Amino acid sequence: MEYIKAKTILTKVKYGNEWYGIDYNMNLYRGCCHNCIYCDSRSDCYHINNFDVVKGKENSLHILEQELITKRKKGVIGIGSMSDTYNPIEKELEQTRGALKLISKYSFGVSIDTKSDLILRDIDLLKEINDKNSVIVKFTITTPKDDLAKVIEPNVCVSSKRLQAIKALADNGIFVGIMMNPVLPFITDKEDDIRELVRLAGENGARFIHTYMGMTLRDSQKNYYYDKLDKYFVGVKDKYIKYYGNRYNCLVPNYKRLYKVFTDECNKYGILYNMKDIIREYKKENKNNEQISLF
Ligand code: SF4
Repeated sequence: MEYIKAKTILTKVKYGNEWYGIDYNMNLYRGCCHNCIYCDSRSDCYHINNFDVVKGKENSLHILEQELITKRKKGVIGIGSMSDTYNPIEKELEQTRGALKLISKYSFGVSIDTKSDLILRDIDLLKEINDKNSVIVKFTITTPKDDLAKVIEPNVCVSSKRLQAIKALADNGIFVGIMMNPVLPFITDKEDDIRELVRLAGENGARFIHTYMGMTLRDSQKNYYYDKLDKYFVGVKDKYIKYYGNRYNCLVPNYKRLYKVFTDECNKYGILYNMKDIIREYKKENKNNEQISLF
C-alpha cells in the first residue's frame, strides 16, 4: 500500500446546493482500481499519476478529526467523487469506516458515492449517523446488464449486486438511489435498458435516479476510453468521432426523447429524478428523525 502526504482532508464546497446538498467534500484515497473504462478522473487536469493504483492518505483520520472539531457547521460531507472509498484496500485498512465513526461522533451528515457492496459492512454506522443528521447513498449503475457492467466497470461488483446492496440499505432506512451517470452513447443508451434499470431501481427500494444522459470526453481520459472501445466495441469509436468531434459534453443521440422515457418511467415507480427534490427529501427525512429524537 502506497501512502501520500495530506495537509487537509475536508474541502468546503461551493456547488453543494446544486449537487446533493453537500457542504464539504473529502477523499480518503487517491486513485481507483475499479478500472471503469470511462472514468473522468483520468483527465490531465487532475494530475493523478498511475490512477489505477490506490494510495492512502497519511494520518487522514487524525487530520479529519481536527478539522471536524473546528467546523462550525455540522454539514453533510461528500465522500467518493474522485475515487471509490470502498475499494478493495478499504476492507483491511478501514479508513472509511474510521471516518464514519468520526462523522457520527461529531454529528455530521454524509453523502457517499460508490459502486461497491462493501458499504454494507458499515450499515451500523450509517444508521447511527442517520439518527443525528442526513445520510444519502448514491450507487452508480450504468446498465442493468451484468455482462456489460463487467466490461465497462471490470473490477467492481456487477449491477445486480449493487441493486441487492441498495435493497439492503433501503430496508435499513437509509435514503439510497442511483447515479445513472455516465450514459455511454451507442452502448448503454438503449431505451429498453433504461426502462429496465428504472424498474429494477423501484423494485429494490431506490428513492431516486439522477442522470445527465451523456458523458464527458477529454485528453487522456478520452484516449483511454477510445482504446477500450477499439478492444471491446469494434467500430463504435468511429461513431463517436463522427458524431461528437472534439466535444467535451457528449449527450446521447435522441437525448430529449430518452430523457422523457426515463422521467415517465421514474414517475410510474414514484422515483425522484430532480436534484432539488432529492435534496429536499433526504434532508426532510432527517428533520423527521430529529423531531422523533427530541420527542
Ligand atoms: S469507480 Fe469512479 S473513480 Fe473508480 S474507476 Fe470507476 S468512475 Fe473512476
